[in-house]
Amino acid sequence: MIREAGQWATEAFWMLVERFDAFLFDLDGVAYLGDELLPGSREALVRIRETGTEVRFLTDDPRPTREQLRRQAPRHMFAGARFVATNADASFPSPKGPLPGTGAIVEALRVTTSVEPMIVGKPSAAMFDIALRDLHAGRDRTALVGDSLESDIPGAHRAGIAGVLIAREDSQPAFTQAPPALEAIIRDLGGLFDPPAPSVRGSRSAARNAIGGKL
Ligand SMILES: [Mg+2]
Repeated sequence: MIREAGQWATEAFWMLVERFDAFLFDLDGVAYLGDELLPGSREALVRIRETGTEVRFLTDDPRPTREQLRRQAPRHMFAGARFVATNADASFPSPKGPLPGTGAIVEALRVTTSVEPMIVGKPSAAMFDIALRDLHAGRDRTALVGDSLESDIPGAHRAGIAGVLIAREDSQPAFTQAPPALEAIIRDLGGLFDPPAPSVRGSRSAARNAIGGKL
């Protein structure tokens, strides 16, 4: 996005979509939930592409292999296979509420086999590095939009990019520890086009305070 001289000073008053030149989007819980597109996500993604903003999708949705994994992995691991997991999320969102995520299976396998997993997906920086490699935008002008405080946001921060949290009406984030620094919290992708809310206007500490209260 082209900016004129002097605009930087007023950046705090910009829409999120104007503050960054590139976005990485998590998919499950951000663009869709289960098999359903989330409200406004298609329109928001079309609008974002129209602005010339660089867009990448960063997902490690494990569901197709979940049952297979549960049945076959312990046998392979007892036979000496390496234990590589794509993420350590304890749960993932579904239209009926959170379901056990890869992390739950990883933990069960770890306990069953006493083999320590190597996590290669989010929040490992490796996955982000691959996604960021061919972007024209610098990391200081790139944000990840995700719904997981366990993988998306820490992964973004490890990779040196901003984290925007999607917190849908039906899923209040559970903060079991101090919340990470967030660029902003939005309810859906349409929130990238909202004028900044007073409580989170351009300030990471304000965003931190905001998530301590009612979203
Ligand atoms: Mg997600």
